[in-house]
Amino acid sequence: MKHEAVEAFRGRYRAAIHPLYRGWLHGGLVLITGLSVIMLAYSALQNVSLTEWCVIPVSLLFANAGEYIAHRWLGHHKSRILPLFYQRHSGDHHSFFDEKLFYFANERDLRVVFFPLYLIYLFIFLLVLPVGFVLHSAGFDNAAYLFAIGAIGGYLLYEILHFSYHIPGNNPFRFILGWAWLRDLHRLHHTHAQMRHANFNITLPLMDVLLGTYKRH
Ligand SMILES: [Zn+2]
Ligand SMILES: [Zn+2]
Repeated sequence: MKHEAVEAFRGRYRAAIHPLYRGWLHGGLVLITGLSVIMLAYSALQNVSLTEWCVIPVSLLFANAGEYIAHRWLGHHKSRILPLFYQRHSGDHHSFFDEKLFYFANERDLRVVFFPLYLIYLFIFLLVLPVGFVLHSAGFDNAAYLFAIGAIGGYLLYEILHFSYHIPGNNPFRFILGWAWLRDLHRLHHTHAQMRHANFNITLPLMDVLLGTYKRH
């Protein structure tokens, strides 16, 4: 998309945002929801063994695969399962940000950066609770709570990192080792030529490396 087309899309998108929308509230509610689930699950843990702690990295790996699959095949391909996801991602997010106009300009622009608030509730009720319930029923109480911590942790990591890549100017995230590399991978994903082909992971590019879609330039 040309520079003018992105600017024109931004103008139309901004004009359609509800006047009462507040980006900090949007992000804050996602964060509070996620952290509350993590704290609840953490407080329910009892005598966790070393093997049980491994549930966290395993669920983070699942989250990594989940972000890749959802982004690549639902965000960039029109599917019958979640057409709205495609519309919001390919239609809105990629029309609002390309490799040149890569940063948001004000907090109202966060409407097009974060997932809608209800998605974290769908994630909790349709994934975290059912899996947790199965583990709990099978007698693996700690594993159920640790899975909730890992899965929600992965979700928040996605939201926070993706938000950080689109922050304009110098920001504190740049002091984190490897952050600039991850941001550049995402910026490459925002080029029109690469968005259907490269860098679908937002957190660590594990699945991208595994499936051959990792690209640096
Ligand atoms: Zn993005
Ligand atoms: Zn994308």
